[in-house]
Amino acid sequence: MSLSSLEIYKLLPKTNCRQCGFPTCLAFAMQLAKKAVSIDKCPFLSEEAKKTLEESSLPPIRLITIGKEDAKLEIGNETVLFRHEEKFYHPTGIGVILEDDLPDSEIIKIIKKIKGLEFERIGQKLKLDLIAIRNRSSSLDGFLKVIDLVVKETSSFSLVFMSQKIDFLKKALELYSGLKPLIYKATKDNYLELTQLAKSYGIVLVVSAENLDELSLLTKELNKMGFFEIVLEPQADSVSSLLWNLTQIRRLALKRRERSLGYPTLVVLEDTDKDLEILFASTYLIKYAGILLINTSEPEDILGILTLRQNIYTDPQKPLQIEPKLYPVGTANQNSPVLVTTNFSLTYYTVLGEVEASKIPSYILSVDTEGMSVLTAWAAEKFTASSIVTAMEKANLKEKVSHRSLIIPGYVALMSGELEERSGWQVIVGPKEASGIPSFLKNL
Ligand code: SF4
Repeated sequence: MSLSSLEIYKLLPKTNCRQCGFPTCLAFAMQLAKKAVSIDKCPFLSEEAKKTLEESSLPPIRLITIGKEDAKLEIGNETVLFRHEEKFYHPTGIGVILEDDLPDSEIIKIIKKIKGLEFERIGQKLKLDLIAIRNRSSSLDGFLKVIDLVVKETSSFSLVFMSQKIDFLKKALELYSGLKPLIYKATKDNYLELTQLAKSYGIVLVVSAENLDELSLLTKELNKMGFFEIVLEPQADSVSSLLWNLTQIRRLALKRRERSLGYPTLVVLEDTDKDLEILFASTYLIKYAGILLINTSEPEDILGILTLRQNIYTDPQKPLQIEPKLYPVGTANQNSPVLVTTNFSLTYYTVLGEVEASKIPSYILSVDTEGMSVLTAWAAEKFTASSIVTAMEKANLKEKVSHRSLIIPGYVALMSGELEERSGWQVIVGPKEASGIPSFLKNL
């Protein structure tokens, strides 16, 4: 937890010597609290004060990066227990487990299915993040063969290597450490060797224990070895106790600043009933899994989880918005009508749905209103004649269509005169409600 300026001030020498560039220690403390200066600007800090200040500036939950550049997954670095307090920053990584004892043809089929699982929802692409290769075959060749198949078939997923045999993980890392896979898993019995291995390749290690006390002791041991790239797997014998553990890890890391639990978490779903597995995955997604590994790649299972994730990880203080630009609908051409609206996702997609329903190829000019809907943006002076003209110029509208007329929403009919004056285009007032668009366009 960050210290307040007063708490920081208590740790300073209070001599007001000005060597930090500020007139008083209090002024320096205030800047430090805002993270506007670094602590080394004051040369007179005691070692103890330095340590306290350094620790307070670290994120309570470490940011962990898995995978290489084009398939990079970042998790952790969360700062709140509840989304409405601020927002959740790094969406849960969702991955599918591939067993290495399946026939090659089946594995290729699953990989292709995973690659095809892309959904577009309110202007965002939803997809899976990880493929976990699990060594169920107990054969090194089988394990390496499946990793090789995955690497050849796709490069857009972070990988997880899951094996109980350290030698197998060692061999896999000799070949594929450049992909920065996540290694599963260190326990109290094997952590010494696995930590050295992960440290030597600079990769992330899952640390697993039966309860939170053991988990905390284990991460402290890893920290003593100079290793901090950790993902926690709290084990539990029921959904409720796993939920409890995940919640306590987040709570202790944020509220008690318990460093040994200040890492993102991972849950491996193992339910034989696929419907229950998806249900439980959703529960852990809400509270507070950093990574979820599941055993299904069926679109109907994945869509629900990805949609839930999108909802949880949007910023509650910002309306969902799309990129403000000119969107062609259907085979829009130089003669197509141009409808103007805002870049609030809900508004845009409602208008889009009705334009598509009209079956008349058109353009939709989405104006940057910081995600506000038509009337709100108009009242806030974000949807104005001037902002529409700016959007027209940015979209180079006069080159896209040969006519010179615009359709604006009926609710902002008041601006039509000014818009005509500023743009030099004819302004047609459209229907107030999007549902009126199909008949309006047909009669235009
Ligand atoms: S250098 Fe340190 S002691 Fe001097 S004014 Fe700044 S904070 Fe205070």
